[in-house]
Amino acid sequence: MKAKIAEIFESVQGEGLYLGEKQIFVRFFNCNLSCTYCDTKLDRFMEYEPGELFEEIKLYRDKYHSVSFTGGEPLLYTNFLKEVLALTSEHGHKHYLETNGTLSFELEEVIDRIDIIAMDLKFPSSSGMGNLWNMHRKFLKVAVKKEVFLKAIICQATREEDLMEALSLIREVSPSSVLVLQPNSYENQSVLNEKLSRFKEIAKQNKVTTCVIPQIHKIMGLR
Ligand code: SF4
Repeated sequence: MKAKIAEIFESVQGEGLYLGEKQIFVRFFNCNLSCTYCDTKLDRFMEYEPGELFEEIKLYRDKYHSVSFTGGEPLLYTNFLKEVLALTSEHGHKHYLETNGTLSFELEEVIDRIDIIAMDLKFPSSSGMGNLWNMHRKFLKVAVKKEVFLKAIICQATREEDLMEALSLIREVSPSSVLVLQPNSYENQSVLNEKLSRFKEIAKQNKVTTCVIPQIHKIMGLR
């Protein structure tokens, strides 16, 4: 069984709660969504067998926080992932999954071997993807078995009603999870700052912990 992989590289995590941690990144090709703000336009890949990917991961010999499975959407390759995760677990690696938070059945298949889940919440007004809240709810109900934090891109177009929907979902399913508000890197940051402060205050009133973390790798010119 083969998976399409766009790139494998080492770098530091550039977003979310594990910002700055050194990781081995495995970026899978293809995604089941097409968000308007997507900055991961992949146009090439190589096909790997699970054992081939494991051999390549083994070439990275420094100390790493974890292997980050990212994309695209890594959960499009569940059967492949299962085999890779079994191999990398034996090798002592921790597993960090970056996901768009919509494929709950696929997550169930691999969650035993995942340590940390960075789950996106696609706000309809930001992503242009329509209403994915039921998919997100099902996904989060599985993800809570492990450490999970949530991430939402905030744009000028993001509406308060989407934030309220997200806060209600978090309170219902995983009240201790942190919601990372990530300003869209391609928009005027000073305009976004005002919205971010307001959203933070609303979240506080609703007893959900948030933090504002921009994509540091873009600011620092890292991969
Ligand atoms: S889920 Fe992520 S990779 Fe997929 S289209 Fe949206 S932003 Fe791009």
